[in-house]
Amino acid sequence: MSLETPQHSTRSDHRSPTTNEEPIEMDLKTLGWNSFFHQHFEPYREQGLLPARVSSQHREAYRICCAEGELIASVPARFRDGIESPVDFPTVGDWVAVQIPGDTDPASICAVLPRQSKFARRAAGDYDVEQLIAVNVDVLFLVNGLDGDFNIRRIERYVALAWDSGSNPVVLLNKADLCDDVEARIEQVEAIAIGLSFLPVSAETGDGLDEMMAYLPTGTTAALVGSSGVGKSSIVNRLLGKQHLAVNAVREDDHRGRHTTSHRELLVIPGGGLIIDTPGMRELRMWGDDTGLQEVFGDVEELASTCRFGDCTHQHEPGCAVQAAITRTELDPGRLHSYLSMKREFTRLARKRKPKEGRMNKEEKRRDMRRSRHATRSRLGTEREEGER
Ligand code: GDP
Ligand code: ZN
Repeated sequence: MSLETPQHSTRSDHRSPTTNEEPIEMDLKTLGWNSFFHQHFEPYREQGLLPARVSSQHREAYRICCAEGELIASVPARFRDGIESPVDFPTVGDWVAVQIPGDTDPASICAVLPRQSKFARRAAGDYDVEQLIAVNVDVLFLVNGLDGDFNIRRIERYVALAWDSGSNPVVLLNKADLCDDVEARIEQVEAIAIGLSFLPVSAETGDGLDEMMAYLPTGTTAALVGSSGVGKSSIVNRLLGKQHLAVNAVREDDHRGRHTTSHRELLVIPGGGLIIDTPGMRELRMWGDDTGLQEVFGDVEELASTCRFGDCTHQHEPGCAVQAAITRTELDPGRLHSYLSMKREFTRLARKRKPKEGRMNKEEKRRDMRRSRHATRSRLGTEREEGER
């Protein structure tokens, strides 16, 4: 079970809700409950529903945590019918309003509360579909290895996407024990964006993990995101003080008769906050608007604003201030390349999404759901693939 801590014992049976408000509030706070969710929960409280947090997601059911402990919950048809897009389904980290009917029936998820933060990417495949990576997260640890896999351009991409997520991004530089010149790497990371937080750690030696825990007081939620192999599971295991993921990785049959390992799980760190481990990602395609781009590439955009031509592509035009900075070795051509490709992605995304603004008609909605279902199916495949090592 994922939420086994001294403060929060877990059960999988179903009991009728308690009427004692005090301890409920305390437990919920440990699970990340705050005034934002409290406020959005009001109408559901009046309906006699209870707040719960989704800790893991399975094919047909969810594991949720509430004042009652840990329960299995399903999404009833009446909720499913009202859903316009797959991102409206509950996901790990979500706060939901549930009905707990009795001793034997599973709980029903009646609503998903608004998300306080959301880290999403464009789903794999040709479809214009959003894929949620982590929601309701206070701190987003962008995990990277300080070993041979270190790639400053990849970090840049994560930061650009994370900037607008509503959570606080922290670049976690793992495997510090394998790096001869951590300072040089830090300098590279510092150059990405002004005020960007970073932290060198080692899941191997435990160095830096106390500093990491400083971001995670009780009641706060963090997520670990990054490529496969950067050490996310090792860090989580180290924080939990046991080989949790290896033991508890959830295996279930998918419809093709193969096995899926779901790595996305909300866990309570003993004496601290909560952490969501996410499947390793091979590709991080841009989603949302380009706010992050302005933050991460402020220097490039400033140079670009002084090019001779307003529509300069910064490749070969005369009077290009960006190319001039590259010639003076003040700007890394790799950084410009990164910037231009992310900008292209955002531009394409904005163009594609435009017709969808406003209310979709019935046929558009059906088409959107069809595409999304397809993308979700391929996502489940991708997640298994990306999660595998
Ligand atoms: P994940 O795919 O991000 O969850 O990565 P894992 O936690 O599975 O780690 C991938 C590999 O890197 C494993 O062989 C780990 O033992 C190793 N590893 C993880 N963290 C560290 C570290 O801080 N130092 C060293 N030397 N190896 C590490
Ligand atoms: Zn230019």
